[in-house]
Amino acid sequence: MEDKRESGELLVGLEIHQQLACSTKLFCRCPPVKSEVLPYSFERRLRPAQSETGGVDPAAVFEFSKGRSNKYFWSPESSCLVEADEEPPHPLSSEGLDSALLVAQTLGSIMVDEVHVMRKIVIDGSNTGGFQRTAVVGLGGSFDVGDVKVGVQSVTLEEDAARILGEDSTSRHFALDRLGVALVEVALAPVKGDPDLVGRVALHLGRILRSTGRVARGLGTIRQDLNVSLSGGKVVEVKGVQKLNLLPRVVEYERARQSALVQVAAKLGDRGIRQVACTATDVTTAVSESGSKVLRGKIAEGGKVVAVSARGLKGLLGWEPSPGVRLGKEVAEVARAKSLGGVIHSDEFERQGIHEDEEALLRKRTGSTREDAIVLLAGPAWQVDACVPRVVERLREAVSGVPAETRAATDSGETRYMRPRPGSQRMYPETDIPNIGVTGQMLAGLARAVPQNWEVRVSRLADAYSLSRDMALKLYDSELDADFEALAKELKLEPSVDASVLVDVPSRLAREGVPQEALGLEVLAEVLRSVASGSVAKEAVPDVLKEAGSSGRSVEDAIRSLGLERANEPEIRAVVVSVLRMHAGLVGKRGDAAFAPLMGEAMKELRGRADGAKVARILREELQRAGGQS
Ligand SMILES: [Zn+2]
Repeated sequence: MEDKRESGELLVGLEIHQQLACSTKLFCRCPPVKSEVLPYSFERRLRPAQSETGGVDPAAVFEFSKGRSNKYFWSPESSCLVEADEEPPHPLSSEGLDSALLVAQTLGSIMVDEVHVMRKIVIDGSNTGGFQRTAVVGLGGSFDVGDVKVGVQSVTLEEDAARILGEDSTSRHFALDRLGVALVEVALAPVKGDPDLVGRVALHLGRILRSTGRVARGLGTIRQDLNVSLSGGKVVEVKGVQKLNLLPRVVEYERARQSALVQVAAKLGDRGIRQVACTATDVTTAVSESGSKVLRGKIAEGGKVVAVSARGLKGLLGWEPSPGVRLGKEVAEVARAKSLGGVIHSDEFERQGIHEDEEALLRKRTGSTREDAIVLLAGPAWQVDACVPRVVERLREAVSGVPAETRAATDSGETRYMRPRPGSQRMYPETDIPNIGVTGQMLAGLARAVPQNWEVRVSRLADAYSLSRDMALKLYDSELDADFEALAKELKLEPSVDASVLVDVPSRLAREGVPQEALGLEVLAEVLRSVASGSVAKEAVPDVLKEAGSSGRSVEDAIRSLGLERANEPEIRAVVVSVLRMHAGLVGKRGDAAFAPLMGEAMKELRGRADGAKVARILREELQRAGGQS
């Protein structure tokens, strides 16, 4: 019975948010640029508004209950009154709409007849108006990843949220430059099972999106959200996975976490607990001389301590069915999301300095038995009071295993509690923007713009330039394929040299600590031009880039400072002749077989200043001449 509940099948739905490459934002004509300097600011406090159906969104109430305000920093170069929600939105950018429709078309979605812009409630402060504008442009569609068919649920055009800068105890700080930037959200149907498959699906979809040529490049322009569940269980939303290689780890972590919570629920079932009975008691005076430093500290700061006791849960808060997953930790995370750090539960009393006498006193005050668990919440009174209902709720949720919640991905590939899952009544129509008909003419135009399949593109690139498929894929993934083709045409070098300098050399140098931003396309193209013009040998490229990258010198200066100016023919001949002279015995003894070691010597002497083929030719000539004389 228990085994069956543990082994629920893993289901993962991916949502990809990709910024579009547009010249303006979606609802105003500000350019989508990142502002380094944000000279102006204003402050807002948001309240959860009732939706038209009369309900209030639980996620909105939750954020509001944290009792903080939001401070927005902005620059006129990247924001106007629209971002501040002081001016109505301008008409939807047709460039953005076109791009989103093209993405939908490429994925084989069915286009909507009319685009309706909606307001989606978000009250985490990342939108100044408390909502995000969003419009579905396509439904359905699919693509194949190996032999797995992945369904597309919807393609949506959205405005990006403000960029979080940081927070203090009273307010959160945001930058408005990113607010309103056009992005496309692609929601996929859940795939079964394998965390690695999820990574491959995301990679594949990213390549499809890039194939349209309409998406923004670079770090932070793509963001993945995941909906993870064990079959039959509630869905957990994991937000903001920025790095693709973290996806499988996040999925693996959620699988372990959720299956552990299912095991906790099974244990509760075994104990005959169908509903967790909780009581909350103010125990500030009882623990005023506590053995716990944390509690004494909070009380000294004028705070209060409330004990929440949970009937029959003794031992289950500290139990760790999967490494690092404990009900106690989940409860503490819920409190921390409300900025309350002082949480101690009874399975860790000893470790926290709360010994037998104090525990006995606490049990007496709270009317709990040795079979019950106690969670102590310590901090400023208003914060503790705001936390108690949420902690009680989380303890009660333990009987059903995995609660539906929104979590954030951490940099190490784990997840951390953020807030309850938003309710269903989060959308209402944006009346400032008229509906836009999708005409047959628009669709015909799009049909012509649908890009070549990326896999075909990669094979053609490999065939046309005699590159390995791996190299062609690297060019495609680094989004340098078009630049590569341009350089190959311009420079008439061997294409594999262009490709290797564009993608292999920079990543090798990055591992050696050369700052990657110093090796931009312009620098790489310049070094390739120097090779093509004969001013430096291709063998010297890594040294030149390393010098240019670490010193900030230009390619030309780097070549000069390394003494790597290309040797001319007389210089090469002089080196070759001197090598021959030094190894005259070798030539006499081994004749033609002396070629390879002599070649090595000559190349070493020339230290990358000459092309191997040229040195070989001269060496052959000189060997022949020497042979003729003997
Ligand atoms: Zn603007």
